[in-house]
Amino acid sequence: MSDKIITCKKCGKDMPSSTMVCPNCSQRMRLGWPLRIAILVVLLGIIVYFVAFRDNGSSSDPKNNLPTISLSEFNSLKTGMSYQVTAQTIGSAGEKISESGAEATGDYEVTYKFEGEGEKGANATITFKKNRLMTKAQTGLK
Ligand SMILES: [Zn+2]
Repeated sequence: MSDKIITCKKCGKDMPSSTMVCPNCSQRMRLGWPLRIAILVVLLGIIVYFVAFRDNGSSSDPKNNLPTISLSEFNSLKTGMSYQVTAQTIGSAGEKISESGAEATGDYEVTYKFEGEGEKGANATITFKKNRLMTKAQTGLK
């Protein structure tokens, strides 16, 4: 074990670093705290790692991003997003179900349907105007 010598802050007596309580004045040594803090930091790190890993599993890791829309993916879609970013977030290009207007005039609107994760028939429909997400609706997503 460690042969380090520590000094009691209260009475100044030297003692082995493994001492928990000063034999001279009963002052509680701070020894042990660095270890406890280290354990806490490691535990926290593990928790953060697992939380982040679970998030990645359903949305941002392309390998685990199913070509279907999940509720969390749906909720992360924001008005004004481009179709490209939306498709990337979902992991699917979707199916174009309606189109109106002309791209040249700027009133071009297109609605895509994305197959959803969850109940059978779960899906989301998302309408873009001038390549900006305008409205979104979903049914049965999980
Ligand atoms: Zn002491």
